[in-house]
Amino acid sequence: MKQDKMDIWMPDAATSLYGIIGHPVGHSLSPLLHNRAFRALGLNCVYLAFDVTDLEGALSGIKALGIKGLSVTIPHKQSIMRFLDEIDHVAKRIGAVNTVLNKDGRLIGTNTDWIGAVKALEEEAGRLDTKKVLVLGAGGSARAVVAGLAERGARVLIANRTLEKAKDLAEQFDARWYSFDELPDVEASIVVNTTSVGMAPDLERSLIPSDLLPKYAIIMDIVYSPLKTKLLRDAERAGCKTINGLRMLLYQAVAQFELWTGKPAPVKEMEHALREAMEPDK
Ligand code: NAP
Repeated sequence: MKQDKMDIWMPDAATSLYGIIGHPVGHSLSPLLHNRAFRALGLNCVYLAFDVTDLEGALSGIKALGIKGLSVTIPHKQSIMRFLDEIDHVAKRIGAVNTVLNKDGRLIGTNTDWIGAVKALEEEAGRLDTKKVLVLGAGGSARAVVAGLAERGARVLIANRTLEKAKDLAEQFDARWYSFDELPDVEASIVVNTTSVGMAPDLERSLIPSDLLPKYAIIMDIVYSPLKTKLLRDAERAGCKTINGLRMLLYQAVAQFELWTGKPAPVKEMEHALREAMEPDK
């Protein structure tokens, strides 16, 4: 009886609060990831999801309540920047904040999406400084992926539906840009899809025709719902190594956890939490 009581963790007056702000946030996996990590290390911390439309009001609340750290998701990743006390160099370069640290009442913005993308790729590809990487898309997450690849010294090629956006991003990071029609002529060893193609309602679409896939060694899709997009299914059939969107999600959260707590994240526990949520039958 006593043992059961000991096993149940309860917040108390000393509990530190963290959370995610976005709109909507109802399906976010971040509370699961961070709470599992807090419990694994026995930290007196809790992480909640806040559906926020009044961003400025929410941020004054966060300061007033002493909330220690935040994840930031759509649609606030860019708009939050004007309300923060400080933004680090990398988030400025990417043009988006996905992580806030409340340091003695000062809200400091950074970005860990690029770390998530780079770690997910390095797990399969090793060093990236000798690799040529084709990035599909030029939206918010593409900016983080391209920044991470540039940071690691990879050669980056960008293809996007709206060519002007590919050009703008490529010029900022010293990359080359292409239209999707040019893909048959583009040489690269790795492809990263950062577009929403592959998610509902585009479940049966992929931006790379299957006959082009054998020329790439590794295909990563940052979409994680569904876990196996059409691009990844085609890539498996073509004999490419594949990386699904959960790896980036995991490692961006690992970097957030370590920034907030100053402790090494329990990566295996976090990975199990994601697996249980996304692949409950395995
Ligand atoms: P975003 O800023 O809205 O950018 C969307 C991108 O997708 C743009 O490049 C857009 O091209 C392209 N696109 C959309 N519909 C298209 C279509 N029908 N055909 C061709 N291209 C199309 O979105 P985001 O924030 O970058 O997010 C993109 C995806 O990444 C989402 O599925 C999101 O869930 C996922 N994501 C995953 C992680 C992770 O940790 N795994 C992290 C962040 C985001 P145009 O420029 O031509 O409009």
